[in-house]
Amino acid sequence: MKNVLINKICQFVVTENQLRSFWEKSGGELEFESLTNEQLMRLAKKEIDQASLRELEAHILDHGYRTRDEIEGKMIADDDSDPYYHIEVIDTSLPPGTPSTIRIDRLVRLECKDCGFEMFVQDIDIDPSQLKCPSDGGQLVINNNGNTLKKLHREK
Ligand SMILES: [Zn+2]
Repeated sequence: MKNVLINKICQFVVTENQLRSFWEKSGGELEFESLTNEQLMRLAKKEIDQASLRELEAHILDHGYRTRDEIEGKMIADDDSDPYYHIEVIDTSLPPGTPSTIRIDRLVRLECKDCGFEMFVQDIDIDPSQLKCPSDGGQLVINNNGNTLKKLHREK
């Protein structure tokens, strides 16, 4: 079978109103207003993880419901702990801060200068001089091949 994999960045927005109603539906005992940014991000991830395909439609940016003005503002918290997610809390009442960059490819390709051995590491901030080629101990260099490490510049 020739299955086609399309790697596309898909951005989900969970608005404060959506978060509040999800919080109330899930029977949270605390006042919604008392939740910390960290709790809001966990709540949003839970909502996306549990959403049916139909429910997801209400979260997809540029897909009819969610518009870019809903993510215009200042990023006041973010969570980069899961390599497959980058979660941010954006306060739309604040003016945008310095635009941040989001890395969408979470792997770095390293290549041995001596034997050409290639490997991938998940730490995108790796200093290749700290590692040695597992095959012959040679010097490793980052070989992005022009496209392994991509950055998405968030629109203001
Ligand atoms: Zn080597």
